[in-house]
Amino acid sequence: MNEPIPRAVPVHAPMDQFPVRDGELVVGGERLSLLAARVGATPFYAVDRGLLRRRVAELRAALPAGVKLHYAMKANPMPALVAFMAGLVDGIDVASGGELKVALDAGADAAEVSFAGPGKRDAELRQAVAARVLVNVESERELAVLAAAAAEFGVPARVAVRVNPDFELKGSGMRMGGGAKQFGVDADRVPALLARIGELGLAFEGFHLFAGSQNLRAEAICEAQRQSYELALRLAAHAPAPLRFLNLGGGFGIPYFPGETRLDLAPIGANLQALAERARTELPEASLVIELGRYFVGEAGVYVTRVVDRKLSRGQVFLVCDGGLNHHLAASGNFGQVVRKNYPVTVGNRLGDEARETATAVGPLCTPLDLLADRMSLPPADVGDLVVVFQSGAYGASASPQAFLGHAPVTEVLV
Ligand SMILES: *Cc1c(COP(=O)(O)O)cnc(C)c1O
Repeated sequence: MNEPIPRAVPVHAPMDQFPVRDGELVVGGERLSLLAARVGATPFYAVDRGLLRRRVAELRAALPAGVKLHYAMKANPMPALVAFMAGLVDGIDVASGGELKVALDAGADAAEVSFAGPGKRDAELRQAVAARVLVNVESERELAVLAAAAAEFGVPARVAVRVNPDFELKGSGMRMGGGAKQFGVDADRVPALLARIGELGLAFEGFHLFAGSQNLRAEAICEAQRQSYELALRLAAHAPAPLRFLNLGGGFGIPYFPGETRLDLAPIGANLQALAERARTELPEASLVIELGRYFVGEAGVYVTRVVDRKLSRGQVFLVCDGGLNHHLAASGNFGQVVRKNYPVTVGNRLGDEARETATAVGPLCTPLDLLADRMSLPPADVGDLVVVFQSGAYGASASPQAFLGHAPVTEVLV
């Protein structure tokens, strides 16, 4: 008789970025129960400064020296975090007039701020010209508004062209380029747009390509970078001025779900090294830029919510917590997931416990969608314990329907 080959059950990547002390998770150097007391209320998000610093250092070590790192602040626009990141990275990418204000307040250097987004209103474009930041132009319409603002204010309108490429990013969680898209200008229409930029006397500075998000396959990212470079090189022949920036996008993913593993930066570093060497002769005035959101901040943050009730329903344990979908839509599985999977979750003040039980952690909302952990193996928890959702530094509070059901907004701290 043939024995069935045992198949490995997919598990979450180890969340070993946070140490454990006295049976408790340590975030920002503090035991979780003390941190919760210091914050003063649950639920809360906490992002660890030391982990942000470490992540930037790892990227600097893995990528060639000349490559600029930009933080795409829509991943986490908390002002204290944006200010901290502004001091660590080479530039901030904003996606609205509101984010632009936060970035400038945070002390970001306007010369290194860029603004992308498919529906920039006239007022936002004028804001960008007045602030002297780079606008990644995504339509013909934007040009006239920018030219008028430049004439009115007597300052140059700095522009790059966001190109909707003629390829798609394989293995991406969310595709944002290739095919018919609301983002950028189709590659074949870019030469005409460049001519118009020249006629209007706008200050052309480069190209921006963003193929997609949440990619854990280094080879797919390298392929997209190579194709982006080739496309930019072809389009540069039509440009009214030499390229100063070539933003190759990002899309670096982090492991959220069972079976996913951390991205290998080594091949990406080697690939960028090769492209940077080519750029030295082919685009001699251009800096290569990589823009990342979740890769910088996602693994550095946790969402912490307290167990309000412990219930047994037909044999299943439910931990009812004081926050859920209203603060952390992504962990509930309702932010772009097709099939719901569990984020890595634990009970952060019970890590000394050897015992495990199968439990379901839910939030306080009157909807079955409000689920943080579906039948996971967790340290046994009771009322007052602290359920922790890892990988929560990106697309948390600002990407959640906080007003839904009228609970208090979540607290966010940088520690
Ligand atoms: C959302 C976005 C990013 C950030 O994506 P991450 O997956 O968080 O790295 C970067 N650039 C653009 C243009 C975006 O729209």
